[in-house]
Amino acid sequence: MTSSLQDLTQRLNEFRDERDWTQFHTLKNLLISLNLEAAELLELSQWKTDEELEALLDDPTFHKNLTEEAADVMLYLLMISEKAGIDLDKAARDKIAINAAKYPAEKSHGNARKYTEL
Ligand SMILES: [Mg+2]
Repeated sequence: MTSSLQDLTQRLNEFRDERDWTQFHTLKNLLISLNLEAAELLELSQWKTDEELEALLDDPTFHKNLTEEAADVMLYLLMISEKAGIDLDKAARDKIAINAAKYPAEKSHGNARKYTEL
């Protein structure tokens, strides 16, 4: 895990422990919470076209909401990773390598086909 992710996890643990919230942070509750936060992130796109959504990146209020929901998702993912003993930095790097093998650039360039269709 990078020091940045370790630092964030440490800060998050302090925040949790100061509130005695470990008792609520079961794996199931953390997984549910991650998905609820992901839904809040997704909700920002509800009823908007691709163009409207891209244009909203210049709106400070929208950008603030997007930033905060993205952070919520990341924080729950860090809590899940810590609880499950996942080195998230390594896991993400490994997954990029797995995806690179599944989706060779020469076969995937410019198309969105699943690896089984390449
Ligand atoms: Mg949220």
